[in-house]
Amino acid sequence: MDKTTVKKVPPLRLDLEFKEIEKELLPEIEKVLRAGHYILGPNVEAFEREFAAWNGSRFAAGVASGTDALLLALKALGIGAGDEVITPSWSFFATSGSIAWAGAKPVFVDIDPKTYNIDPKLIAKKITKKTQAILPVHLYGHPAAMAEIMALAKEHRLKVVEDCAQAHGSAIGGKKVGTFGDLGCFSCYPTKNLGACGDAGIVTTNDDSLYREVKGLHVHGEWVRYFSDKLGINSRLDEIQAAILRIKLRHLDGWLDERIAAAGRYTELFSKAKIGGVIPPYVEKTCRSTFHQYILRVPKRDELLNFLKEKGISAGVYYPRPIHLQKAMSFLGYKENDLPETERASRETISLPLFHGITNEEQEYIVRSVAEFYAR
Ligand SMILES: *Cc1c(COP(=O)(O)O)cnc(C)c1O
Repeated sequence: MDKTTVKKVPPLRLDLEFKEIEKELLPEIEKVLRAGHYILGPNVEAFEREFAAWNGSRFAAGVASGTDALLLALKALGIGAGDEVITPSWSFFATSGSIAWAGAKPVFVDIDPKTYNIDPKLIAKKITKKTQAILPVHLYGHPAAMAEIMALAKEHRLKVVEDCAQAHGSAIGGKKVGTFGDLGCFSCYPTKNLGACGDAGIVTTNDDSLYREVKGLHVHGEWVRYFSDKLGINSRLDEIQAAILRIKLRHLDGWLDERIAAAGRYTELFSKAKIGGVIPPYVEKTCRSTFHQYILRVPKRDELLNFLKEKGISAGVYYPRPIHLQKAMSFLGYKENDLPETERASRETISLPLFHGITNEEQEYIVRSVAEFYAR
């Protein structure tokens, strides 16, 4: 393809994923519609088994969203009013939103500026008598420092809930995320690495009693239908989403490999382009990052964002405002400069388009455009 033919790169192309599996997908959706069983049926049960096996977890429970997965995991551990949960502020709002909805207090810890994940060295000094759990996030698909986090949890007798919403298939030393802590929480929102065509989520665990808690709490605490033993919520996975997820799961390993290869291509192009001040993502030696996002740290971020927009390139910012500075969290009393690395990341990072089906030409156009901006 000629250098000049790419004029526009969208942030995502979910339609490309659909086209590739259309012939498998449509008959399965039709089967569900004809069977007339729409919520928590055979597809949900099969998907739970298949996802657990794929992830190397003993159990997986299908729920309505990643946010609910987090809320239910915390509730299964009995976390609520008076408890504190240590977590990064550098994440999607749902991570700490669910801690607050559970009735507990999010206690924020700054990030490691290289991996953008919670800095394990800063956790110990935030542990109090009220701390019940640590909730790390495997942000952008890069695993959090689970060895250090699990060691701290053991020493201080804390529970660990992993936010794996952006990290299906990410691993440390070959062991997948969602198998380190007490529970793992996945989102299958359409843009995630394993995305449904609507909302969906999964809770993983190796512990049968925690699994049984989640299985009751997500249906109003009804371990026996119409007898609520605990206060639960309605958070069910439906059959159509489960049927779609089952098919996508069969393609996931290949799609993740492609995503990782495309991220590698970006990094290679950037290292060849030698653009001063532009820092490609770092991957820890023992880790497999599945690159839910491809993040650059850059000078003059907002100007670059506008320049790329003029070039037809939809880059994004994840996230423009850290959670501790969100209005909804003002009751916690954080102020600016409380978490310097988190706040610096919100000013200096940009996310480049990375999706199933992105072409070499599109990636080259993007890297060329970034180089052009700094050469001006
Ligand atoms: C997407 C996401 C969630 C929430 O998942 P939903 O399915 O949208 O509710 C939680 N945490 C992180 C880090 C996410 O990216």
